Amino acid sequence: MTIGIIGAGASGMAAALAAAENPEAQVILLERQSRVGRKLQATGNGRCNLTNLHAAQGGYHGEDPAFARFALERFAPEKTLDWFYQLGLFTLAEPSGRVYPYSDQANSVVDVLRFALDKPNIQVKLGFEVNRVRKTPEGFLVESREEGLVVQRLIAACGGLAGTKLGGGMSGYQLLRALGHRCTKLRPALVQIRSSWKALPGLKGVRANCRARILHDGRLYREGAGELQFTEYGLSGPVIFEISRDVCREPGEWICRLDLLPQSDQQTLTEALIRRKSTALPAGELLTGILHNRLGRVIVQEAGIGLNRPIAQLSHRELGQAAELVKGLDVSLTEAMGMDAAQVTAGGIRTEEFDETTMQSKLVPGLYACGEVLDIDGDCGGYNLQWAWSSGLLAGSHAGRTEA
Ligand SMILES: Cc1cc2nc3c(=O)[nH]c(=O)nc-3n(C[C@H](O)[C@H](O)[C@H](O)COP(=O)(O)OP(=O)(O)OC[C@H]3O[C@@H](n4cnc5c(N)ncnc54)[C@H](O)[C@@H]3O)c2cc1C
Repeated sequence: MTIGIIGAGASGMAAALAAAENPEAQVILLERQSRVGRKLQATGNGRCNLTNLHAAQGGYHGEDPAFARFALERFAPEKTLDWFYQLGLFTLAEPSGRVYPYSDQANSVVDVLRFALDKPNIQVKLGFEVNRVRKTPEGFLVESREEGLVVQRLIAACGGLAGTKLGGGMSGYQLLRALGHRCTKLRPALVQIRSSWKALPGLKGVRANCRARILHDGRLYREGAGELQFTEYGLSGPVIFEISRDVCREPGEWICRLDLLPQSDQQTLTEALIRRKSTALPAGELLTGILHNRLGRVIVQEAGIGLNRPIAQLSHRELGQAAELVKGLDVSLTEAMGMDAAQVTAGGIRTEEFDETTMQSKLVPGLYACGEVLDIDGDCGGYNLQWAWSSGLLAGSHAGRTEA
């Protein structure tokens, strides 16, 4: 029995290894790029946040997020980590539940998978871009521009549209649509938000631990807490990824209100600033020791205070204004960035057309799909890779059975 898998990303490699556990299964893993796991290598800023210990409890989106539950329970984070340990990967969990390779290198994850694929019943074909799939009486005819292969079962693990430079594309959606499946609207998720705030270029690269609240026409839209990163054009970082879903899609005023010192209240901060009046320092140093220096100076300027004025000469009102801005800095938002900057695609192939207990198509027997190509996407923090592992392992273990 031959099982073809389109895509050697996270879910495709997991599916290949699961299918190949049956020695009677011959697995052919087809990848259009020149190496396996290219996107995986770039995940987590090169560290690969490979799962989150809370992933089986929710944190997924799509028309029917409950579709993901079976796979996530069957191959829960602990089970996936055990699977990786058997492959040779040591991991470390952070208190937040995010799990990284112990080496802190995404390479390690790709390498253990790559080594494991080196099995007599797995053939990896690189540079093989599937551009047509046809159902035949024997199974499927899978074609690239140069070559055609006949497989009995087929797993579409082509990933989504997000991260276009790393291999994201429309291919998976197109191939599955050609076989009769339908696709929801695709939108970028876990993405930076653009802002026209003039101070941004000077803050590029500055990080802050904050509480962020997104307001739409003055009403609270979503909130979160964690690390924020200022970029030249906007706001980025885990907290922004978490709360950016669908931001700026409707007209109106969109604002991100940042509390840059959540552990302290405004009164306590104002009192601390008033105590600084006894120093001989200029106002540019007012927030030194509290915030990142560049951010501190921007706040002082936003409060209308000249950077060279002596702190000793600042009024209690001015110090109160600076404290107020630290506790509630409004950054106006213009748009969420596009698919090339997004970490994941919201939307995808409709899950109602697949059996969640096997990942097999309800329309085309012998066809399976897993990973981001399906209409399931997760929160920031390891949820998307966990979906890729769980759905890939489920699809592969089922497609690999002698009697599927
Ligand atoms: C910059 C970035 C950072 C991220 N960081 C994290 C993180 O830290 N934690 C987390 O959980 N998630 C992260 N994600 C999301 C995560 O990487 C994806 O959700 C996950 O890789 C999806 O797995 P997949 O197998 O469905 O698709 P992919 O991993 O994208 O693999 C799909 C593969 O299919 C191949 N392919 C597509 N079409 C064809 C075709 N027609 N023929 C042959 N081959 C084809 C592609 O080249 C690709 O190799 C990140 C994403 C990005 C872009």
